[in-house]
Amino acid sequence: MTTTLDPVTRTQAYFDGGWHTAPRTFEVFHPGNGKSIGAVADCTADDARRAIDAAEVALREWRRVTGYDRGQVLRRWHDLMLEHKEPLARLMTLEMGKPITETRGEVHYAASFIEWCAEEASRIGGERIPTRLGNKRAFSSAEPVGIVYAVTPWNFPAGMITRKAAPALAAGCVMILKPAEQSPMTALYLAELWLEAGGPANTFQVLPTNDAPAFSAPFMDDPRVRKLTFTGSTAVGRLLYGQAARTMKRVSLELGGHAPFLVFEDADLERAVREVVSSKFRNAGQTCICTNRVYVQRSVAEEFTRLLAERTGSLTLGDPLLDSTRIGPVVEQAGLDKIQAQVKDALDRGAKALVGGQATGGLFFEPTVLTDVAPDSLILREETFGPVAPVVIFDTEEEALRLANDSEYGLAAYAFTNDLSRAWRVAEALEYGIVGINDGGPSNAAPNVPFGGMKNSGVGREGGHWGLEEYLEIKLISMGV
Ligand code: NAD
Repeated sequence: MTTTLDPVTRTQAYFDGGWHTAPRTFEVFHPGNGKSIGAVADCTADDARRAIDAAEVALREWRRVTGYDRGQVLRRWHDLMLEHKEPLARLMTLEMGKPITETRGEVHYAASFIEWCAEEASRIGGERIPTRLGNKRAFSSAEPVGIVYAVTPWNFPAGMITRKAAPALAAGCVMILKPAEQSPMTALYLAELWLEAGGPANTFQVLPTNDAPAFSAPFMDDPRVRKLTFTGSTAVGRLLYGQAARTMKRVSLELGGHAPFLVFEDADLERAVREVVSSKFRNAGQTCICTNRVYVQRSVAEEFTRLLAERTGSLTLGDPLLDSTRIGPVVEQAGLDKIQAQVKDALDRGAKALVGGQATGGLFFEPTVLTDVAPDSLILREETFGPVAPVVIFDTEEEALRLANDSEYGLAAYAFTNDLSRAWRVAEALEYGIVGINDGGPSNAAPNVPFGGMKNSGVGREGGHWGLEEYLEIKLISMGV
């Protein structure tokens, strides 16, 4: 490793050209044992205003750097992230409890957005447009949107940041990031690496805070901040969407989900089980695209459920820092309370726990499979964010689609079938932004696939050219000749 980086900066905020301690700090706790791993600067609305002023100055220079040269900085940022893979992975696991084998994977996932945008930066430009009038020449010019305010969640402490920062910085925007309270140190680590890679001062500022509403207010009110990009819950996304309207900011919102997983009788059951387990239980069920509801056709329900229970029962719950652990703790007590309330509600309405069903102390909850889940159960409507798979039986394709689409959310859905015609019918009928056919992980196919939701799951897309366009304004330049 070739680093001169100082771990102390992981508790200081980076803004207005330097690393700052703050009069107040807040603690970050390891969900695996409840112990504090550090006290981080608690930034205020005044700090936010300083960051906006500094961003305004930084933007003037950064937008003039050629796309080719911006891409070179991004490329070095990508390389540094991979050089720092192990400490970054460990820090993420300490902050939010995701098993270390998964956080190592997240470093690659997060870096892949930077790599793709590094290459794409040199291709951002515009086009010459043929005109109807011989005395006019028309061009489109793609220009950076400007200052971007980003707010991110804890469940992918690096990936949810680079999926925003890489296209923003490639486009010539500057970003001010407010990371989640649970995982600010990973964000600060990424800021250090950006500076180490040659990122100019104040192009990527990171300010942790423990008072998100007060800290956010200056951004939402300031007309110089031209874009809000948010990943988190639908409730907070809706609130910020309203606030952003006051200064007519561009918005990207990646919000909650409630993914259905359909298993038809013609599916490869072994494969469906393998993929549903991977989709349901990664990060202890705490991703927006995790399977939340499993629907299986009656003729294969018994065999599928037996295989699912067997595989789920074999998942190792434990210390997330160990390579052997498959499921770690959930991030905090409020999350655990919600999981327990949903499981209790389902059991009270007649469901049975085939495996699991219990909290085991601290923030740990057993990987669980529920059957005979009543249709009005909370778990079939509300995002669970925990390692619990409720299984429901259906009879016809039409019924399966009706149940799958009966949700306020529209982020990800999965269907397993070996009938080609059904595969197309189902893919087209599912009202979801991401559909996996015989695939429980469609979003990890590449950094340039479109990621985003319909309905209450959000606005806009991240990834690939769709993600980049979110940070570009298209200007028409017409010239009379
Ligand atoms: P959350 O909405 O509570 O918090 C997300 C971020 O918003 C945090 O940084 C938080 O500090 C900030 N925040 C909270 N209240 C705020 C306010 N009033 N003003 C400004 N900022 C505020 O969500 P969470 O619990 O951290 O994350 C889990 C949620 O994120 C789930 O619903 C999950 O589905 C969603 N998510 C969506 C995607 C996606 O791409 N669609 C990806 C990951 C997570």
